[in-house]
Amino acid sequence: MAFILAAKHGEMQNSVISIATGQGDLTIGEGSCTIIAGPCAVESREAYLEIALLLKDTGVHILRGGAYKPRTSPYSFAGLGLEGLKILAEARELTGLPVVTEVLDPRDLDNVACYSDMVQVGSRNMQNFTLLREVGRCRRPVVLKRGLASTIEEWLLAAEYILDAGNEQVILCERGIRTFEQMTRNTVDIGAVALIKELSHLPVLVDPSHATGRRSLVAPVARAAIAAGADGLMIEVHQRPDEALSDGAQSLTPEGFEALAHDIGRLARLSGKEFI
Ligand code: PEP
Ligand code: MN
Repeated sequence: MAFILAAKHGEMQNSVISIATGQGDLTIGEGSCTIIAGPCAVESREAYLEIALLLKDTGVHILRGGAYKPRTSPYSFAGLGLEGLKILAEARELTGLPVVTEVLDPRDLDNVACYSDMVQVGSRNMQNFTLLREVGRCRRPVVLKRGLASTIEEWLLAAEYILDAGNEQVILCERGIRTFEQMTRNTVDIGAVALIKELSHLPVLVDPSHATGRRSLVAPVARAAIAAGADGLMIEVHQRPDEALSDGAQSLTPEGFEALAHDIGRLARLSGKEFI
């Protein structure tokens, strides 16, 4: 295999990534089940602080929300940019929870890394090699989503770019791939999760929201992901999904999320993982 730093060699231990929080260190990887949740985008200060407070104490470990949104149409809402990053930082102060957000452009990386705890490289940028090298130079953990039409080897080689640039804190995230299937937004590759666990020491999450595009499928796919060995989940939640500026159809309500997080906690403990 052409990936070296991302590969698991012999009896090597799986990587564990730590994030400092107000309540001590949060660990992602071996032995833990980590849930990232929040709306697709930071839509306004009021709406984001509202959902952050609704989610606090419902089983979420890390808050999400896009300030820079990759949109298929240039006319769609593309996020609040720097203002969105400041709102995320405010939500972190308010809840004590770490935050993750996507970086689209290397020119925004310093700000993204300054206002958030973890940086996300989205599916559409999985092979943006300039961006991969830049996040490889930053000191934040990086969530690397699988490209929408990428093989597992290409995905691990994308992780290799970040590792090779000096950042060892890489977390993979399966978010579904494009296939001939039209009834779901993407086709979730649960087998990839199990294979990554064999091939690599890096933690792997599953995003059942983008993987399915349908609210009703989020919980079953989330449970399947944990059963297959995923180290956690990334889930979109919106307080009023019908009014969401993006991805409302796949967003859970806070109540739906709380019920799912409860189930995931039980499953995680059954698999010998810690779930606080
Ligand atoms: C997201 O998580 O907001 C997102 C855009 O996901 P993806 O890159 O997987 O499409
Ligand atoms: Mn989304």
